[in-house]
Amino acid sequence: MIRSHSMKKLSLYADGALGKTASRQMQQHLQSCPSCRLRLEEIMRLRRALAAKPAHALPARFVRTVMGNYRALQSPATF
Ligand SMILES: [Zn+2]
Repeated sequence: MIRSHSMKKLSLYADGALGKTASRQMQQHLQSCPSCRLRLEEIMRLRRALAAKPAHALPARFVRTVMGNYRALQSPATF
């Protein structure tokens, strides 16, 4: 059972980089934790946005904004 809200684990989970057991624990945690579900959605949305467009085709300001948001998501949760 994961008790803490681990952004690192969420991020790995979004990558499919968590092990089998850890993934299952994360799924269980997500079921009981709306804030982590929201964060995971946000991570997935940013990844899709980043994957959908080649970085060089984006205005630099947009990239900075998105990456700033992404970094903010990586910081330890405060709730
Ligand atoms: Zn959580």
